[in-house]
Amino acid sequence: MTIDTNNFKDKLLAEKTLVEKELSTVARKNPENPGDFEPVPDTDERPAERDEVADKLESFEENIAITRQLEARLGEINSALDALQSGTYGKCSVCENDIEIERLEANPSATTCKAHMK
Ligand SMILES: [Zn+2]
Repeated sequence: MTIDTNNFKDKLLAEKTLVEKELSTVARKNPENPGDFEPVPDTDERPAERDEVADKLESFEENIAITRQLEARLGEINSALDALQSGTYGKCSVCENDIEIERLEANPSATTCKAHMK
């Protein structure tokens, strides 16, 4: 199968930019470990009322959840980009057959064929 890897590379890079942009709104890069993101608390520094403290904790927890999700997504995108570089892109990680092109169109960072998707 010949796949247009440049097309998928463009899609992956575009998604990576988007995910990194979203990450920057809820987290900051760990200076000691680039590639790792730390969720940031609400940056509003005003002295808070009791209710506001609870709200902030809640939004910090949301930030943590969103950060974990986006990090996982970024990891998938990065492994797909690695696979593109090493020439293993588009192979199912379970049966090593080619992943259906329409599956890659829908999700360029897919690592399994339709039969083996979770
Ligand atoms: Zn498979």
